[in-house]
Amino acid sequence: MLTTLKRIVQEVNQIPGLEPALARLATLVKETMKVDSCAIYLADYTQQVMVLKATDGLEKSAVNKVKIGFNEGLIGLVGQREEPLNIENAPSHPRFKHFEEVNEDKFFAFIGTPIIHQRKVLGVMSMQQKSARRFSEDEEAFLVTLATQIGLEIANAEMLGSSDLVNEDTNFSQKNINGVPGSSGLALGRGVVLNMKHELNQLVVKKSRAHKEEIDLYRKAVEITRSQVGLLSDNLGDSLPEDVKAIFQLYHQLLDANSLGREVEQKIREGWNAASSLKLVVESYAAKFAAMEDSYMQERAVDIVDLSNRILHNIMDDTSSPIARSSAIPKDAILVAKEVTAPMLAEFPAENLKAIVSIQGSNNSHAAILARAMGVPAVMGLAKVPLGILNNAELFVDGYSGLVVVEPENQAKQEFLQLIAEEEALVKRISSEADAPSATLDGCSMTLLVNAGLSAGLEMEGNKMGAGVGLFRTEIPFMLRERFPSEHEQYVLYRELLEAYPDKEMTMRTLDVGGDKPLSYFPINEENPFLGWRGIRLTLDHPEIFLVQVRAMLRASIGLSNLHILLPMISSISEVDDAKRLIGQAFHEVREEASKTGGILSKPAIGVMLEVPAVIFQLPQIAERVDFFSVGTNDLTQYLLAVDRNNTRVSSLYSSYHPSVLLALHQIVKSSNACSIPVTVCGELAGEPAGALILMAMGYRKLSMNAHSLRKINWVIRNVEEAELRGLLDQVLTSKGPEDVKLIVNNYLESKGLGGLVRAGA
Ligand code: PEP
Ligand code: MG
Repeated sequence: MLTTLKRIVQEVNQIPGLEPALARLATLVKETMKVDSCAIYLADYTQQVMVLKATDGLEKSAVNKVKIGFNEGLIGLVGQREEPLNIENAPSHPRFKHFEEVNEDKFFAFIGTPIIHQRKVLGVMSMQQKSARRFSEDEEAFLVTLATQIGLEIANAEMLGSSDLVNEDTNFSQKNINGVPGSSGLALGRGVVLNMKHELNQLVVKKSRAHKEEIDLYRKAVEITRSQVGLLSDNLGDSLPEDVKAIFQLYHQLLDANSLGREVEQKIREGWNAASSLKLVVESYAAKFAAMEDSYMQERAVDIVDLSNRILHNIMDDTSSPIARSSAIPKDAILVAKEVTAPMLAEFPAENLKAIVSIQGSNNSHAAILARAMGVPAVMGLAKVPLGILNNAELFVDGYSGLVVVEPENQAKQEFLQLIAEEEALVKRISSEADAPSATLDGCSMTLLVNAGLSAGLEMEGNKMGAGVGLFRTEIPFMLRERFPSEHEQYVLYRELLEAYPDKEMTMRTLDVGGDKPLSYFPINEENPFLGWRGIRLTLDHPEIFLVQVRAMLRASIGLSNLHILLPMISSISEVDDAKRLIGQAFHEVREEASKTGGILSKPAIGVMLEVPAVIFQLPQIAERVDFFSVGTNDLTQYLLAVDRNNTRVSSLYSSYHPSVLLALHQIVKSSNACSIPVTVCGELAGEPAGALILMAMGYRKLSMNAHSLRKINWVIRNVEEAELRGLLDQVLTSKGPEDVKLIVNNYLESKGLGGLVRAGA
């Protein structure tokens, strides 16, 4: 059954346009299952109806005409109940409703199953049979499995507006794509996909009427590919093994004008552009090869796609945008990538970067945290959106809601420009008070620190008011290299920072790689990276890495007394003891070395990140061992709620405003105060207006955040009353869920005239 399912889904996926794809799906299901009819209905939520979109067996002319109300007939019932319905004699069912247009009088047996994606019923798929019988369990399982597989495809096609995908370039109309908010802010600019690799499976098919030009383009690309392939085989010499020779033979056969070329050119004459024609022909070939029993033939599917990607590259190289050709990055660039990484951002010209769009990742992925640190709007997790439709397109990015608008129409564009202007005015107002003290209207003083490290120093620029660095993430210098940085390289970096702010506390966290921060030269392959070998777990297993880093930090602090060392991912007391022992060892070594040149080494303050829930219950014992705590709400939220912070699919479940997370945070500040140990919050919650206010109400007095948020939070603090917020705390902590919590705080912000910030992620 699995092979049949795969074959059907593969074949249907290759058909451009949703309606022809569904029509073929109906036929394939009817033939494979040997039933008398198959029909597919899609939900239209504005009209509250299921529209017949495809059928083989019912009256074809009824397609797009028959609309069944959500409360009507068996199709409506399947959608309402969100479960399969298998009936021997449909006309005798109380919910049966006769629709003359579909001509189904002759059918008795009925089975229908909902097509659901992300909890939403997108449609219903049904099979019917003339005889009155119950469909077997196998038939039911087949239909249900098929419906789950096509749900995602339908959702994507609907999101992208499938009919647009087959329009000509000039008609490409506005598309609204929803992702996950990554970094607040608005931007209008041009999508730039760096080093875009042209691949058939990423290509969005388009039509073209310029048949002759497209055929010329295709032929030219084939010629270039032929000489490239020739060169490749020449370079490999004569002594090629037989199997490699066979691949080159296949390449040459395919490049022959009478082979692939004839079919591609036929498709061009049917109205597709050169690249789309190649895709349509090749994918159908590849699917046939992949479905063959013979494993040798199956593997040839890979070769066909590989060669065709080379041809595609040569087609696109000729037609690609001026940007791609000149490799010039426009002034208003919106960086788009499958997964935006820190090194990618470090290399991108900051003055051109208006926003970031990452196809993968979520709100608390480190790419999003980095975007926030740089003050650049970002949207994450656009699921299956092909990069091709974003490259060189005009994009509007709304980092508050997670919306990306592709090729906005004129009126929408004017509205976006207006919103951007309003936002700029708010930023100006906030910045005017940037240097004023961080105290509430009723005199509660807050210490605001900065989170740094992610963008290699960028965060500190123009940041005058921070009381120091509450979190320096040391990972990035490790990620930007192709090997572990030496002790000296690290020393230079840390010294620069410690020396620049001798009177301010500088909290440096020891290496926290693993999870979504991999090192290319130290690969870790794990099923569950966030529950695996990361942070202190890794560095304690590799004391040589830990000691080199701690020695670099200590050497950098000679003659200064501002170094705080912070330990990430602590989950047990023995880890604290082990880390302290190693720090003690490094301290004695460095102190001895320093004394030879008259240098004085002060004892660093040592702290623990509170980000694994287990430590909440052992705070008194840990407090006896260290000098301070720093709460990492990003990981604490992920581990308390069991929601991977990097996974787009569960991103709606991830919220630091979940009352359980807030209760844990309240418990932490109460326990820390009882132990008289200083505590800071350095997770992203501290840099959000609502989050900062809730934390203040709980009793936190030190918050560390990205430099970009610092001005905003300072402004918020200066315009509220701590006593009023304390009065709201009970209500917040007994709320049902994150939305209720935000509502309470947002209403308060509105009442204080800070409504502009509510939109800004409060
Ligand atoms: C946290 O987990 O809240 C934190 C500050 O650390 P990171 O985001 O680097 O894991
Ligand atoms: Mg963390």
